Amino acid sequence: MPDAVLVAVAWPYANAEIHVGNLTGAYLPADIFARYQRLRGRKVLMVSGSDAHGTPITVRADAEKSTAMDVYQRYHNGFLDLFQKVGLTYDLFTSTHTDNHFNVSQKIFLALKENGLLYTDRQMQWYAPSQGRFLPDRYVEGTCYICGFTNARSDQCDHCGNLLDPALLIEPRSKIDGTRPELRETEHYYLDLAKLQPAIEEFLHQRELYWRPNVLRQSLGQMQADSLHGRAITRDLDWGIPVPLEGWDGKCLYVWFEAVIGYLSAAIEWSCLYGKDEEWRDWWHAPSVRSYYFIGKDNIPFHAIIWPGQLIGCGTKFDELIGSNPPAHLVLPYDVPANEFMNLEGQKISGSRNWAVWVRDFLSRYDPDPLRYYLTVNMPETKDTDWAWEDFYKRNNDELLATWGNLANRVLSFAYKNWDGRVPDPGELTGEDTELLELVEGGFQTVAEEMEAVHLRAALAEAMRLATEVNKYLDQTAPWLAIKTDRQAAARSIYTAIRAIDSLKIMLAPFLPFTSEKLHIFLGYDQPLFGEQAVETKVDALGEHNVLVYRPGKASGRWEASQIKPGRSLNPPQPLFRKLDARIIEEERAKLGR
Ligand SMILES: [Zn+2]
Repeated sequence: MPDAVLVAVAWPYANAEIHVGNLTGAYLPADIFARYQRLRGRKVLMVSGSDAHGTPITVRADAEKSTAMDVYQRYHNGFLDLFQKVGLTYDLFTSTHTDNHFNVSQKIFLALKENGLLYTDRQMQWYAPSQGRFLPDRYVEGTCYICGFTNARSDQCDHCGNLLDPALLIEPRSKIDGTRPELRETEHYYLDLAKLQPAIEEFLHQRELYWRPNVLRQSLGQMQADSLHGRAITRDLDWGIPVPLEGWDGKCLYVWFEAVIGYLSAAIEWSCLYGKDEEWRDWWHAPSVRSYYFIGKDNIPFHAIIWPGQLIGCGTKFDELIGSNPPAHLVLPYDVPANEFMNLEGQKISGSRNWAVWVRDFLSRYDPDPLRYYLTVNMPETKDTDWAWEDFYKRNNDELLATWGNLANRVLSFAYKNWDGRVPDPGELTGEDTELLELVEGGFQTVAEEMEAVHLRAALAEAMRLATEVNKYLDQTAPWLAIKTDRQAAARSIYTAIRAIDSLKIMLAPFLPFTSEKLHIFLGYDQPLFGEQAVETKVDALGEHNVLVYRPGKASGRWEASQIKPGRSLNPPQPLFRKLDARIIEEERAKLGR
């Protein structure tokens, strides 16, 4: 593994709340991976932000009679709060509505243009004479010319499901004021993907051996079935990043084109934030950097085909435009470990039908680590999975609590009570003790192998298997009984178990950061495993924006076996997890869809 790891995380649209499917699809696996890499002592940069532009946000603003700026800021600030509660340690979570992102996106546009990878073309677009502006497709409704449904969107009919040619829509009307729009010719810039196709195919083939089969299949399949053609990268819209050319007023960069540029612009913003203006290059120029893109499967074409195409197309031109010396190529994605979807009680999650487990609501009744645990054991890494409340209940009580929480609690409580609040002195360890320690400490290799391959479910399963081994060891050595007849034997097995727990705490910390931090304190450490999160307010030419940052501070966690010494003072232990009542299953199910 290289020293520098870029953890690039999908950008949530700032027009909807976050549900468990979003979390397990992209944000949680990214955080687990970033925390693991930090424990390994690697140079990690985890970035993302709110996708502030695009018509979903302007549509909501119009519906609420508010502004796109208000909608974006309200949801964005909600994300910053939620991501702290669930422990998503972005080094920087910003937004696409910053002066820096505008500038970087416009430079990427110009770099592609100068390299001959953009062209202009004309198309027909709805225009509202009543408002004097072009309307995005989803602002226009009418009667479907295929099935006669009277509330079809101009580009798709929700009744018969067909994609529609907007020009053929019957009796079109504007969703804003009901007036009849007309089709007018408009000019747009297109990204010449056909020209980039050979380089994109080469990029994919170089990664064939280690990419997830579903990601590779979907990406290569798309190009084999239908060779790539130009895609419009501008729109007639006033909320977004202006096209940086004269005579293009009233047109913006299309949101799919500029949001992915956020991975680069956020790294640059992070550097400037800390007064280390050049440091972003450590993640964007060194060919040995590994960049991982954590996204859901609906985003695969943008991250496995189009974004690499944009990066390849820039060559060294972006660097030339921002004055880098010497100009360098931008690093291409190393891996795109996209996840499939999570369903809920056997049905597709749907925000509009309220068929969802909303993370904010969940955290008002439950703790974050049981959520992170359940979303990891059930992570849709290779196929769609299902959130079932009964399964959540069982996994919490029968696995997390029974195998791990009770193990830590009963060993530490027993030590605290019987050895005066200290780690007991084991004397000389027996073969049985060293065998257990070797087995558990082997996890720093076996769990790591799964982590490096982004097999997070398997990594967690391996760590939990090792916890089961410690339970078996305690069943055999039974220190709770031995203490009455052979205090030294009891001290030996409790010391051994504490050392195993101290090691498992590190292996589990990327998954269970809140309780691992607590356990770390119970074990008598005074420096935290991880750093701290904070919200900061920044001011630029576009106004104020809040960002979430991660400060390593006194983080002391290391991916290495415990060296805990006899005699160390412990702190009074408490249970790490709560046992859930079976009644929650029916209570929670009853809330769905209401
Ligand atoms: Zn129809």
